Amino acid sequence: AAAATAAEVIPTGGPVCHAVLFPFMSKGHTIPMLHLARLFLRRQISLTIFTTPANRPFITASLPASAAASIVELPFPHDIPEIPAGVESTDKLPSVDSLFPHFALATERIRPDFESALENLRPWPSFMVSDGFLWWTEDSAEKFGIPRLVFHGMSNHAASVSRAVAGDRLLFGPESDDELIAVTRFPGVRVCKSDFEETARTPDPEGPFYDFVMKAFGAPSRSYGYVMNSFHEFEPVFADHLNALGKQKYYSVGPLCLAEVDDVCNDKKEVVLAAKPAWIQWLDEKLWEGKSVLYVAFGSQAEISEEQLEEIARGLEDSEVTFLWVIRKGGGGLEERMKGRGMIVGEWVDQRGILGHVSVGGFLSHCGWNSVMEGVCAGVPMLAWPMMAEQPLNARMVAEEVNVGIRVEGSGRTGFVRRGALENAVRELMAGEKGKEVRRNAKEYAKKARKAMEEGNGSSWKTLNLLIDELSNK
Ligand code: UDP
Ligand code: UDP
Repeated sequence: AAAATAAEVIPTGGPVCHAVLFPFMSKGHTIPMLHLARLFLRRQISLTIFTTPANRPFITASLPASAAASIVELPFPHDIPEIPAGVESTDKLPSVDSLFPHFALATERIRPDFESALENLRPWPSFMVSDGFLWWTEDSAEKFGIPRLVFHGMSNHAASVSRAVAGDRLLFGPESDDELIAVTRFPGVRVCKSDFEETARTPDPEGPFYDFVMKAFGAPSRSYGYVMNSFHEFEPVFADHLNALGKQKYYSVGPLCLAEVDDVCNDKKEVVLAAKPAWIQWLDEKLWEGKSVLYVAFGSQAEISEEQLEEIARGLEDSEVTFLWVIRKGGGGLEERMKGRGMIVGEWVDQRGILGHVSVGGFLSHCGWNSVMEGVCAGVPMLAWPMMAEQPLNARMVAEEVNVGIRVEGSGRTGFVRRGALENAVRELMAGEKGKEVRRNAKEYAKKARKAMEEGNGSSWKTLNLLIDELSNK
């Protein structure tokens, strides 16, 4: 596909405030940005959303058909040796671990087309929100004098702690991988080296990851501010800390997964009429058993070895819990074997729909930040099993800071979880004393999250209004 022509990208008439959104091509980054789009639409702001051809259908399907948003496709480079042809989204990469930097660096090739499209936008954009991984959009924004906000798909906790640890150069200290390190700015915070990316600890200046990190971490210092998918009440200390650093503001405007309300979702009728997927029907059948089902899902990217999948299966069997398990890659034969004990799904599911189902009483999660927010909003307590990226920090948030979940012993960036450890954690969450405590907390935070997003008076609602006011007047 060619770059969109000017005629296609001019929104027709309508409101004067016009925002540009550019999500990164990962499901975990695109989904929350589309929720943000809904929040803008509810405020009568017109939108132009940039994406690539293969990612467009997902975006179109995620927004109401009536949404006043123009979607502009820009071609994604298909001649990068490390990236299989046709792949335009990190969840389609054969291995995200090794290929991510190549993918992220390749996005810079979109820049010339992005700038030609940007130049032709009318009405002229008041501001731009683009993902932190699309660092080069900062240069485009500066070139055209458009204030840019960095979309930061992580918690205030992870952002604060990572900065403090990097600032103190703690990752190069003498501590062993699993020893707690003393973070001067946060005396109470528990972190160890293995909570951080290996590449951050032993950077290879010749490698693509280093190149990406250097680019991606430098650009935001020139941006207007950060949009955070969180709510102040969930992590006040960390949100305040970031804002006290001065210079730029961090706007906590979430949980973004609560952006959807009936009045903007005009397609609701169709949703009601559509047949329920098999797993929702299965959850319906469990209604009379109370909140008995453990939902097991590790996000859109996780790569789990066959050996670990088998161990999970044994642990779930031994715990005697009823489970709904989403397996995105591998796990052949498990579906048949697990019949009667639980259900295994290999398709893309509506995770928020599942978490909101009355039969679901627990969430075994990799602690991707979206999943954490979605679990909290549903009031479902979690079993924290972090795997990559900043997930180990999120797991600490869940199990140690706000206590809405229990850490699975042995889990981590390089860990292997034994069936017994998983069995114990499941039993504790679903029937133990600690389980009761974290369930209570999760329910409390679910109420606070709703309150934060309340139209008019919620803290996140007001923060987003503040941001819009600041930028519309410029
Ligand atoms: N998709 C995407 N990025 C890509 C490739 C596909 O977002 O790089 C979207 C695609 O538009 C569709 C969904 O992912 O909405 C499923 O893609 P595919 O046709 O590959 O089917 P799958 O085998 O993943 O179900
Ligand atoms: N998700 C979904 N259906 C799936 C898999 C994932 O709706 O089958 C959604 C999930 O609800 C979340 C996002 O994809 O909004 C995944 O983001 P997260 O930060 O949890 O993890 P990541 O995929 O980035 O590791």
